[in-house]
Amino acid sequence: MPLKTLAEYERLAEIAHGHLCAGQILGLRMALHGVRLLGMDDPEGADRKRLVTYIEIDRCATDAIPVVTGCRLGKRALKFRDFGKVAATFCDLRDERAVRLVARESSKQRAKELYPEITDRNQQQMRAYRELADGDLFEHQWVRVRIGPEDLPGYKAARVTCAECGEGINFKREVERDGRVLCRACAGERYYDPA
Ligand SMILES: [Zn+2]
Ligand SMILES: [Zn+2]
Repeated sequence: MPLKTLAEYERLAEIAHGHLCAGQILGLRMALHGVRLLGMDDPEGADRKRLVTYIEIDRCATDAIPVVTGCRLGKRALKFRDFGKVAATFCDLRDERAVRLVARESSKQRAKELYPEITDRNQQQMRAYRELADGDLFEHQWVRVRIGPEDLPGYKAARVTCAECGEGINFKREVERDGRVLCRACAGERYYDPA
């Protein structure tokens, strides 16, 4: 399963995301650029276990990234860091290198300049994001990402139980407070309140 054409990925992204939009094209282009920079041509097949992706926003483009990379949240190969940026880091576990891509702020302006006659903003951007060069769409930087063994796909360890709520905790997500083992919710990171 080598890399497909952008048009083929667009069809798959439309199904995965529910509609085709400029964000899908941007996400597909970002993922394609990322895996190519890492020298991977079969991220869903032969290179499947080499790749972990960090994504920094939960928006349209986010859904397009796994369409190319095959990295999914439920496989622990997709990591979400909520920085509110249209950026992603593609990590090659085999060669121990990683590249972070960020969408250029100028890409919307470039789309306007390229297709001023297309008045629908989404259509204008979709068209431009298909055609612009990688370097016009993204900035990239080689980076180092330290991924702990507990964050890698396939990590196995005993589950522990929170001393406060009794719920099971996986992947070393427990914390210690005054000698007690707690889940992050009971340790103060709870995002919900009992109704
Ligand atoms: Zn969308
Ligand atoms: Zn708890």
